[in-house]
Amino acid sequence: MNQFLTRRSFILIPIMSILKIIFKPMKVLASSLNSKEEWNLSKEEWKSKLSTESYYILREEGTERAFSSQLNNEKRKGVFHCAGCDFPLFLSDKKYDSGTGWPSFWDSIQGSVETKVDFKLIVPRTEYHCSRCGGHQGHVFNDGPAPTGKRYCNNGLALRFVPD
Ligand SMILES: [Zn+2]
Repeated sequence: MNQFLTRRSFILIPIMSILKIIFKPMKVLASSLNSKEEWNLSKEEWKSKLSTESYYILREEGTERAFSSQLNNEKRKGVFHCAGCDFPLFLSDKKYDSGTGWPSFWDSIQGSVETKVDFKLIVPRTEYHCSRCGGHQGHVFNDGPAPTGKRYCNNGLALRFVPD
């Protein structure tokens, strides 16, 4: 496993540096849009922007109590945005009742979230966060429904629902 990872990064690192050179002009163009750097806020800036509860979830990878979010029962058509930076993350037609007590989705909007593995509960879990501001959203599991088989288990406090 380790050997595989090392070999993979051995190949990936030079590729990444080539891509960085190619995409540098694109990055300059994108900076006029709502870029990722713009959301690189300090702890204090995030604290003043978010409620204590949302700060704990989004910036400290906390988890809200099961069945505590009203969004768990949200069934209207619309879009679920990141509560940190308002980036659209999930569409209502990908939401389903997982019975877990957290808003659950079987797919995210393409490119809206990024994942990393965490070991908070010793067993490795795949954490995911908003790809724009890095705000923690939840964990993704492989026991979701077809067609993806994924279950994005999201904290309601990390989302803002915008009905159509
Ligand atoms: Zn965000």
